[in-house]
Amino acid sequence: MGRDILVIADVKNGKLRNVSLEMLHKAAQLAGDGKVHGLLIGSQVKPLAEEWIRNGAKRVHVADQEILKDYTPDAYVQVVCQIIDKEQPGIVMLAHSAIGRDLAPALAAKYQAGQVSDAIAITEEDGRIVCTRPIYAGKAYTKVALPTELSFITVRPNNLGLGEADGSNLGEVVESGLDISKDSLRTFIREVVQKSTTGVDLSEAKIIVSGGRGVKSADGFAPLQQLADVLQAAVGASRGACDAGYCDYALQIGQTGKVVTPDLYIACGISGAIQHLAGMSSSKVIVAINKDPEAPIFKVADYGIVGDLFAVVPMLTEEFKRL
Ligand code: FAD
Repeated sequence: MGRDILVIADVKNGKLRNVSLEMLHKAAQLAGDGKVHGLLIGSQVKPLAEEWIRNGAKRVHVADQEILKDYTPDAYVQVVCQIIDKEQPGIVMLAHSAIGRDLAPALAAKYQAGQVSDAIAITEEDGRIVCTRPIYAGKAYTKVALPTELSFITVRPNNLGLGEADGSNLGEVVESGLDISKDSLRTFIREVVQKSTTGVDLSEAKIIVSGGRGVKSADGFAPLQQLADVLQAAVGASRGACDAGYCDYALQIGQTGKVVTPDLYIACGISGAIQHLAGMSSSKVIVAINKDPEAPIFKVADYGIVGDLFAVVPMLTEEFKRL
């Protein structure tokens, strides 16, 4: 038995984000006798098609047009609908990113289809596709079985795991001569990018050094940044730190910020409110540094250091420098 699966690439600065490859490898496992379709949307995205094939796409649809350079829901919905109508996949996978979170429900509503958001695992059980997703701000997990009809899934980055690319994989590239109606398209005005100093994308970072209200000031983030530089990590923050004006909201992790799943999350001066845990509790290893031994963050931490972050963080930085 098989099912056709369409994976929509998440492209950032001309590169496929890791979550795209994670989805593709998972789709190849689940498709059985069915076909894995990849869709590259944007401008100058065609050169990515080969990488898409090496990672398991059997047919890569390329929608490469200047008008698609910046995301607008109207144009992207038109493109994806044309591919869905043509290929009739049973499942469409998107990243649980800013674009995927906007695009998936628009598509699901258009097809009156179901959607599972923020999947962290996708398995096959008794012939049905089952997605695991967090609920109640990450306090519990639920399993959702997909119907056999068309369904949409958004996938949380860093959870499905990367497979090996295989240069001997064969696939075809279809340049979609798509018709995009320019009537009533929203206009993209500008993008404001908060650059990470280490160049590491927070939502896909393998290591995150995160600061809370305990850092006490914008300057208080400096030792965290130094540790992040040594570890090639991204810097994140609690909403407490953002609200206090110590850092930009682009760094906020949690229920109303970014959801992250790094291999290592180092929480410095963060109390561990439920809304913060919602964004980071599925990190593989959590280290908490807090001067209050009763801080709730220690309940989810794998390693806890009770102490002043301004003493502990520089010590860690010096130790890691030696490795
Ligand atoms: P605090 O709770 O003030 O904790 C600071 C910690 O620093 C304390 O534990 C203290 O012991 C420790 N500390 C102080 N000085 C030092 C030192 N020198 N060394 C070591 N430790 C020190 N929060 C989020 O983070 N993300 C969200 O997305 C989010 N969404 C929210 C949505 C809603 C609807 C609501 C109501 C709240 C939301 N919050 C969110 C806010 C959340 O409830 C907390 O208020 C916030 O997470 C607290 O941030 P904090 O841990 O940095 O600050």
